[in-house]
Amino acid sequence: MTTLQPPVRKRRKLLSPFRTKDKVLEGLRAAAVTIWQNNETLLPAGTPAYQAAIMAHEPITGNQVRRLFPAPTHVMAHFKTMIDAWAAVGFTVVANPDTDSARILKRITDLRAAPRLPNRTRGSQAPPLTPVKTAKRSATTGRLIGQGGARVSSLTELPTEGLCLLCELTKPLEEMVVVHLRKERLYQMRPRCKKCHNDRERGHRREWKRNYQRAWRAKHKKLDKSYRDNDPNLKQNTRERMARRFNEKHYALLIQGRLRRRLNLHISTAEAEKLLDRFGPCYPSQIGLTDEGRKRVERLRSSMRSKQLPYKTVELRMLVYEEGSPFVIPPEAQPLPYQSAADKLRLVQAERRRSASQKAA
Ligand SMILES: [Zn+2]
Repeated sequence: MTTLQPPVRKRRKLLSPFRTKDKVLEGLRAAAVTIWQNNETLLPAGTPAYQAAIMAHEPITGNQVRRLFPAPTHVMAHFKTMIDAWAAVGFTVVANPDTDSARILKRITDLRAAPRLPNRTRGSQAPPLTPVKTAKRSATTGRLIGQGGARVSSLTELPTEGLCLLCELTKPLEEMVVVHLRKERLYQMRPRCKKCHNDRERGHRREWKRNYQRAWRAKHKKLDKSYRDNDPNLKQNTRERMARRFNEKHYALLIQGRLRRRLNLHISTAEAEKLLDRFGPCYPSQIGLTDEGRKRVERLRSSMRSKQLPYKTVELRMLVYEEGSPFVIPPEAQPLPYQSAADKLRLVQAERRRSASQKAA
């Protein structure tokens, strides 16, 4: 059995005084005067900032209605953006750069296009040499073959200048490559300047050098042995030297690796060291950012998200790193990533070893 009860009388929500466009404009004008003293540069360009400002001025709850200034909903009923609404009142408001994805994107493209320190060109990375028509090359090896340079018995007989077939410049004798032909006991000026020679040979044609060095060692066994015997710790010293370099440049190498893995961006160690000095060992990870910096990245990201624009979060972080204080922890105060984890792992391993040896005993 159900008992009839009187219907609960709903309290009707009061109607907002800002239902018409004229009323909204009036309210905005009032807000501009009271909250921002008619200062155009202070006016908020987006609704979240506007909402926060009027809420601070006239805090309301649930069922209450705004009396002083129009709520964002009422403004948006008549205008597309907050900027348009301010324009209707007579203010020119510039969009907040944080919300302008075109600007963020421009900064990213600038970042991508920024000049980088050149890596040393070598091996397959070396730029292709421009072929010289007049130079004769071997069909099998592609190397320059004898160009008919005069062979002379003493250095004084060599010509005072020569033509380099690679850069096609005539250069003085000191700048040209001169070879000593041992068997014949003759000298010959090669058709190549020292600069072109060094540019091409550095890290190049290793195979040929390796075979040559092997042959040289086989031929000069005594001399080769003396090199090794004179330095009993040759291997050890080399290993130590490499380890020292790795430790000295450790954080720069980490930065270099992060950029390579995350952005496929190849930078030289020298440039990585500059980034280390400027931004600290955590660049470009979020570990080096303050809470404020992380918020800033989020803000940039949320304004870019809806547009599905081509960017990566790591790039946004790089922009924030460039902005510096107060978004970035100073380089010397940055926590060193993974160091505490490595320490912990070392403790665990030591503990395991100890318990294993106790069991064995
Ligand atoms: Zn040259």
